[in-house]
Amino acid sequence: MNTGTLQISVKKTQQSRLPGLDINNLPFGKVFSDHMFVAEYADGEWKKAEIIPFGDLHLSPASSMMHYGQAIFEGMKCYRADNGEVLLFRPIENQKRLNVSAQRMAMPDVPEEVFMEGLVELLRLDQNWIPTGDGRSLYIRPFLIATDDYIGVKPSDTYKFLIITTPVGAYYDHPLKVKVEKTYFRAVEGGVGFVKASGNYGRSLYPTSLAKKDGYDQLIWTDAREHKYVEESGTMNLMFVIGDTLITPKLGDTILAGITRDSVLTLARDWGMKVEERKISIDEILDAYRAGNLREAFGTGTAATIAHISNIGFEGQDFELPKLTPECFSVRVAKAMDDVRRGRIEDKHGWVYHVC
Ligand SMILES: *Cc1c(COP(=O)(O)O)cnc(C)c1O
Repeated sequence: MNTGTLQISVKKTQQSRLPGLDINNLPFGKVFSDHMFVAEYADGEWKKAEIIPFGDLHLSPASSMMHYGQAIFEGMKCYRADNGEVLLFRPIENQKRLNVSAQRMAMPDVPEEVFMEGLVELLRLDQNWIPTGDGRSLYIRPFLIATDDYIGVKPSDTYKFLIITTPVGAYYDHPLKVKVEKTYFRAVEGGVGFVKASGNYGRSLYPTSLAKKDGYDQLIWTDAREHKYVEESGTMNLMFVIGDTLITPKLGDTILAGITRDSVLTLARDWGMKVEERKISIDEILDAYRAGNLREAFGTGTAATIAHISNIGFEGQDFELPKLTPECFSVRVAKAMDDVRRGRIEDKHGWVYHVC
C-alpha cells in the first residue's frame, strides 16, 4: 500500500466507527477517525512506523513528557474538494515548524519523509472521514512526545511521533469578545512562545478562564514586560485594519509564525493592500478606535481560519467594533482562503497539496 520510501505497516480496524458519525453535529476535537499514525524514535533514529486503529497508548508513568512537558504539536486541516480530491494546505510548512519546535525543546527532527508519508497514507486510509460542506474539514493533529521511562531531568532518548485526525465543523460560530490581558502573559523573549510547545497552552488556561468568567471568549495577550503592545489572541495571530492598512505584530520570540497569518498577509499584498508587520500598542488601537479608524480586528489560525472580533475589553471598558460587511477585508480573505484550500480558485502560490 505504501508508495514512498518509508516502510509503514498498516493494521486496519476490524470495525469502522464511521457509520456512527453525525456530520451535522461535530463537536471540535472529540470524535477521532478510525486510524492513527505512530512512529518511534530510539538509538538516534526513526525506527518503527505504523498505522493502527485509533486507541489508547501504553506509556510508562515515568515518561518525561508527563513530568517535564517535553511535548510539541502541530495543527492542520484536510479538505474534500468539490471534484472529490483530498487536499492539504501548505503541509510542508507544518513539518518545518514542527522541527523548529523540536529543536527548541531538545527533541529530534521528524524528517519530511516520516511526516508526509505517514500523513498521506493515514489520510488515504481514513479519507471517508473528511466531512464535506460549509466550514467542515478533517482537523489533523501531529504531535511528538518524549517517552523515556526515567524521571531525571534531561532530554529523552526515545520519542513517539503520532498523527490523529478529527472531523470538525466551524470553530467559532460568532464574532469574539476579547479582553486585553494586563496581568498574565503568554510569552517572553528567550522563552518558547514562537514554538508549539504543549506547555504554552497549559499555562494559558487559567488566565483565559478568568476572562470567560467576565463574559469574554478569549484574551488578547500583551508583551510580558510592559503589557503595552498586543501580541496574539488566544492561540491565534492577531490582525487589525486601521484606515486602509492591515497591521499585525511582527514575528519574533514571542509570536508564533502562523501559516494562516503568512497566507493572509500574502493575499493582502496580492490585492495591493498596505501591510505593516510591526509593534502595535493598545494605545494606538484605542486612539484609532476613538478616531473612527479601527475598521476590523481578527485572529488567524488553522482551527478558526479567521475569527472576527466584535468587542475589545480594556480595563473594564468595552469597545464595540463596526459591524462586518461583505466588503470587509477579513470577510473577503476568509472566503479566498476557503476557496484556495478547497481547490475552487487558482492556486497561485502553490499552497495546495494533492493527497489523492
Ligand atoms: C498554532 C498557533 C497559531 C496559528 O498558526 P497557524 O499555522 O495559522 O495554524 C497562532 N498562535 C499560536 C500561539 C499558535 O499556537
